[in-house]
Amino acid sequence: MAGETMRFFEQVNHHFDKAAALTEFEPGLLAQIKACNTVFHVAFPVRRDDGSIEVFEGWRAQHSSHKLPTKGGIRFALTVDEDEIMALAAMMTYKCALMDVPFGGAKGGVRIDRTQYSEGELERVTRRFTFELATKNFIGPAIDVPAPDYGTGSREMAWIVDTYAAVGGHQLDAAGCVTGKPLPVGGIRGRTEATGRGVFFGIRELLKHPEITRSLGMTPGVEGKTFVVQGLGNVGYHAAKFLTEAGARMIGVAEYEGGIHGPDGIDLEKLVEHRKATGSILGFPGTTALPDRMKALELECDVLVPAALENQITEKNVDSIAARIIAEGANGPVSADANDRLLERGVMILPDIYLNAGGVTVSYFEWVKNLSHVRFGRMGRRFEELSNTRILHTVEKLTGASIDAQSFQAAIAGASEADLVDSGLEDTMIGAWHQMTECASQRSTDLRTAAYLIAIEKVAISYLDRGIFP
Ligand code: NAD
Repeated sequence: MAGETMRFFEQVNHHFDKAAALTEFEPGLLAQIKACNTVFHVAFPVRRDDGSIEVFEGWRAQHSSHKLPTKGGIRFALTVDEDEIMALAAMMTYKCALMDVPFGGAKGGVRIDRTQYSEGELERVTRRFTFELATKNFIGPAIDVPAPDYGTGSREMAWIVDTYAAVGGHQLDAAGCVTGKPLPVGGIRGRTEATGRGVFFGIRELLKHPEITRSLGMTPGVEGKTFVVQGLGNVGYHAAKFLTEAGARMIGVAEYEGGIHGPDGIDLEKLVEHRKATGSILGFPGTTALPDRMKALELECDVLVPAALENQITEKNVDSIAARIIAEGANGPVSADANDRLLERGVMILPDIYLNAGGVTVSYFEWVKNLSHVRFGRMGRRFEELSNTRILHTVEKLTGASIDAQSFQAAIAGASEADLVDSGLEDTMIGAWHQMTECASQRSTDLRTAAYLIAIEKVAISYLDRGIFP
């Protein structure tokens, strides 16, 4: 294998091929599932604050339109190129299939270092890119639905929906053209933290598994486990937050400016405040600075959560990785060859297409909400509360017991949108965990190969069921 020289899309295809070899589908069908169906490349001008014009390059890849719309984030980063976007789009196809989220896979991006531009400039870049997508039919609630990814967030999603609505004449379902929006423009509660929350659920499920924890020489449960996180952005911050809340101890952090080690535990919220105040994670009390940011990945810990970008654990550093579990918050943080080496060493890898799928799962809920034009819980919440009240009053009457006001209130509460989103996310992550682990044990393979295998089977069946090949 060419090791680190492998392009990102080739690495995704390496995982695909390994799983495809375990199926009996005909080669032509597998080739169709693997191929990236459509790629759009655009160069567009934006006026900068100083009056000059800069030309940016952007891409949108629709890897598989076996289900529509296609779905996948928009990334703003200097790493963006056609290969990266195709690789990420392919991962979206497999991720959605694995999680039973009814979308084809897509991804988009603009090659830009967002730190070098003002808010106004970023707004013009986002709006112009959206205009290009909209006028070429690469965005729409029934066509292709972007979401946040590295370098973008709810602010950019609000600019996207506003531009799309303006270009498309404000159709009824315009809000469903993008997910990850702020609440007032059609977002859903729980989307911002969804990916990190899903990462936590995946780690929690793994740590519940007595056979796995025994094989790793660990006790079951999240409490007391040590972890290191790379990238304190949307995914990394929220994963660290939920792990900390469940009693795990963060002992190392890597960010753009460097890496820190705090064996006694690093307080996440205080670290975030320190970074806001000083512009850096370095110098945080109770921690020592590591020689460089990559050294954080080599710290001895139970769980390493790479949540920045792809190709962070490669042939170069794989032999120095001391974590027992690698929880892929980012897409593709472990290169294909490093992956094989880690598996040989018995390191447990929670694969990206499963572990960070919480974002697209809740994006699916947001899209359904946008198309149905009603908030989840709106129709049933009060009814549920009234039913529960009647049941409790009957229980009190029959037993003669009296329930205190606080317990009464807690017991009757109907589900809010946030409750429903969290429960739907948890259910989806747990359901996929069981599918993946059962498949891995039946086929005697690793979790990533099992995840790809399930995805390939689902996409293949969806093609075959429709008799799509004339
Ligand atoms: P983000 O932009 O919110 O955060 C990324 C963070 O990583 C930033 O704080 C950045 O400074 C830091 N970083 C960049 N390079 C680094 C390096 N070499 N070392 C240490 N830190 C570094 O991005 P995000 O949305 O959290 O996405 C992170 C990863 O998760 C990406 O691979 C993305 O594709 C994946 N992902 C994101 C979502 C989502 O909902 N946002 C969903 C699924 C997967």
